[in-house]
Parts: sequence; C-alpha cells; structure tokens
Amino acid sequence: MSRPLPDFDTLLDDIAAEARKSIGRGKVADYIPALARISPDKFGMAICGVDGSEYVTGDADERFSIQSISKVFTLILALQTIGSNALWRRVGREPSGTAFNSLVQLESEQGLPRNPFINAGAIVVTDAITAHSVSPVLQLLSLVRRFSGKEQIYIDDVVARSEAEHGHRNAAIAHLLKSQGNLKARVEDVLVTYYRQCAIAMTCRDLARAFVPLANGGKQWESGEKLMTPLRVKRINSLLLTCGLYDGVGNFAFRVGIPAKSGVGGGIVAIIPGKFSICVWSPELDELGNSLAGTRALELFARKTKLSIF
Ligand code: GLU
Repeated sequence: MSRPLPDFDTLLDDIAAEARKSIGRGKVADYIPALARISPDKFGMAICGVDGSEYVTGDADERFSIQSISKVFTLILALQTIGSNALWRRVGREPSGTAFNSLVQLESEQGLPRNPFINAGAIVVTDAITAHSVSPVLQLLSLVRRFSGKEQIYIDDVVARSEAEHGHRNAAIAHLLKSQGNLKARVEDVLVTYYRQCAIAMTCRDLARAFVPLANGGKQWESGEKLMTPLRVKRINSLLLTCGLYDGVGNFAFRVGIPAKSGVGGGIVAIIPGKFSICVWSPELDELGNSLAGTRALELFARKTKLSIF
C-alpha cells in the first residue's frame, strides 16, 4: 500500500523557508551580463502531478531565463527531427567530468561531445534542428508551448542579445565543431538558435507542467496527449540523472536522488517518475553553475517526502 502524501502546500512553504537560508552564499551568473541584473532574493517552486494537481510557493509565477533547461526541449525536437540513430552518432551519452562550457575534451575526443547537456553537445543538437528547418526557433517554441499547454511563451531578446555579445566560448566551441565536421549548418545560424533557445523565459509553474511527460510515460499534463514514447522518456531521464547538472551531477544524485536539469538562470527541473515534475528557481549558483538554494530545496523535498527514484 502506498503511503499517503504529505500536505504539499505547507511542505513547500517550509522547504522554501529553509532553502532560502542558503541565499547569500552563492553568486548570480554574470558572464551573461543581462542575467546579473536578477535579484538574488527570488525563490519559487512548483510541483505538477501526473494527475494535473499543482502546488506552488514563492515566486513560482515569475518568468526567468531557462538557459540550459532548454537543452532538454531541443534534444526532444532533434530526436523527432533526425531520429535517434542519426543523433547518437554525433553526440555521446556519458558524463563529461568537465565544466559545461569546456573546450578541452572536444579537442582530444575529435569533435564528439560527451553528452547533449554540456554546451558542445547541446550545440550539436541545436545544429540538428537548425540544419533541418527554416525556422528552428519557432519550431522549438511551438514544442515548448505544446508541452506546457501555454501559448504565451516567448524569448527574452535582451538576454539573447547579451549572450550573443559575450558568447565567445560558445562561438569557439561551434567553430571547433565545424572544423571537426560535426556541424552541418552555418556556425552563425546555429549560434543564433542556441542563444535564443537559452533565452526562453518561463515560470516554475510553466516548466513543471512542461516536464510532466517525463514523469508520465510521455503524456501531456493537461490533455493526456501522448508526446513521447515510454522508451524515449526512460532514455532522457537516464541522461538527466547522469549528465543533467554539469560537473555537480554525482553530488546532486547523492544528495537528492532524482533526475534533473539545471540552468545558469538558477532554475532546476526534477522528475519523480510516475508522480511529479518539480521546478525550483533561485538565481544564486554554486561554483559549478547549479542553483544553490534550488539544490537545497530539492534535497529537502526528497528527504521530507522520502520520494526519490531509489
Ligand atoms: N546559455 C548558457 C551558455 O551557453 C547556458 C549555460 C547553462 O545554463 O548551463 O553559456
């Protein structure tokens, strides 16, 4: 017999109060200047159940820059666009053990990025959608709208421009990939798509809803529409568990025990298969680029509810 779930409204408020104590110990991402302007004091959390139930606390309805969380959406779109065999010939499925924006491994491993969630891998995935569409960004937005059930999802142009102006490492990665034969579209076009996908602005509630298919065998949170096969869901969740939090993924798995994807905007989305998708947002990051209070909130959630995948 399954245990009754706790009162989530009170639980989320308690978790927020406790996790907020970490604010002040991290640093808001400043290598994209437009992100540095966000108040470090923000904290939001939303849970969306596979039955459509929702629980929120704090700034859960405020938009923030989803950054690397977008890499999950582009991966889904690329798999739909060029198919699994073609994509996995160009990107690996192993944790990288290096920083998310590192170039070193790419050079020594001849242009085959370790996984789709480090920048090099994500840029190859973005190339797969850019080379096969005249409007890859619109296609991506339409996927995100379908998954979240919300039409009003847009790109923050200020963030996209700011990243383009300061994205020297990503430009270097893209040029290296091109020289190694692992980019098909023009470098400039791939980078435009990449910066725009990272600059999609969403709320915790939107993201929790949009990730429900990964908790629910591929079904959309509201309509139950089948958006992915169970096999694809299993594979993506496995990649989240092993590669979803940069070089902090092992420690996150140890502390939280739930597959998740983080972004330097301070968001983290986590999946409890068969039950919920959870999104937490707090802009201050640890030294590896993961939200400090967000990680703490998910650790507290897993501990207090005894829900994890193990
Ligand atoms: N747009 C960011 C970059 O490429 C995404 C990084 C992240 O969220 O990890 O640097």
